[in-house]
Amino acid sequence: MDIQDLSQRIAAGERRALARGITLVESGRADHRAQATQVLAALPRDRQALRIGLSGTPGVGKSTFIEAFGMTLVQAGLCVAVLAVDPSSARSGGSILGDKTRMDRLSREAGAFIRPSPSQTHLGGVARRTREAVALCEGAGFDVVLIETVGVGQSETVVAQMSDLFVLLLAPAGGDELQGVKRGIMEMADMILINKADGDLKPAAMRTCADYAGALRLLRKRPQDPDGYPKAMMVSALAEEGLDTAWADMQALVSWRREAGFFDATRAAQARYWFEEDVRSALLSKLDDATAKRAMEQLGSRVAEGALAPSAAAAQMLDVLDGNFGPARVD
Ligand code: GDP
Repeated sequence: MDIQDLSQRIAAGERRALARGITLVESGRADHRAQATQVLAALPRDRQALRIGLSGTPGVGKSTFIEAFGMTLVQAGLCVAVLAVDPSSARSGGSILGDKTRMDRLSREAGAFIRPSPSQTHLGGVARRTREAVALCEGAGFDVVLIETVGVGQSETVVAQMSDLFVLLLAPAGGDELQGVKRGIMEMADMILINKADGDLKPAAMRTCADYAGALRLLRKRPQDPDGYPKAMMVSALAEEGLDTAWADMQALVSWRREAGFFDATRAAQARYWFEEDVRSALLSKLDDATAKRAMEQLGSRVAEGALAPSAAAAQMLDVLDGNFGPARVD
């Protein structure tokens, strides 16, 4: 494959080339990984898309929202890419964006690119692949990249750590409970959008919105937020209401952060975070090696028998790992 040619076609915004690039990034094959690294390195570095992370439990209206919100952006003359982080897809056998008909209108727009999430087993791999897919979309000249996730396990943290803006989508609550949204997730949100604020659900949406606005005011103020943020507001993805306002508020927040230096500082901190995470996961993956597993098992048995102290066994295990699994020093 001609890497230079592929990079150039991605940089020229060719959708098929971009899809091919993402396939390389998602591949588990070593040669594909090497090619993906070359493609990424050959892309223009001066392009930046606004990365918007979007989280919400199934049924809250993410697909409907992304379609309607994406159309709002496309109609404003922007190019929009939609990616997904879906750690559950391996289990369910499908992906949250697998069914493209859910975003029928958007997928037909020349200014839009929708990529279903690949089946993955563990989040570390998903995170790296998604980050690289985001980088490919940026290199392809997209203005906005929407990264969707269902709130499963750590996926919100992963998405928040690769986004400039993190948006939480909620549905109107029946009672007065705060829908069990964890405090940690609330603290990551730059905006909480209460979807389905239409028809019979509107009064409940108003109450829910007021509840969350109140809850957000109680959180510790973050330096990266101007007055009034993080913000809770109502939208209707179905009736296409509130989407312009939501977009205007996102832009206002981004402008403020750019001027105050928080936008670049956050990206720098995220890059450092992912570097450290990649080192950590590469080290952890060394434990998956067959020799390492065997050494772990043998040393573990000796510890269990009382023949070896846990700390001494751990030191021996690190020696095994340092020695590139060379002659295992386990007898
Ligand atoms: P997802 O699982 O989060 O992607 O949710 P979907 O976008 O598939 O929507 C789940 C259901 O909620 C569908 O029946 C949608 O038609 C409905 N829905 C989505 N957005 C709205 C909205 O703004 N108002 C109302 N009333 N229903 C909505």
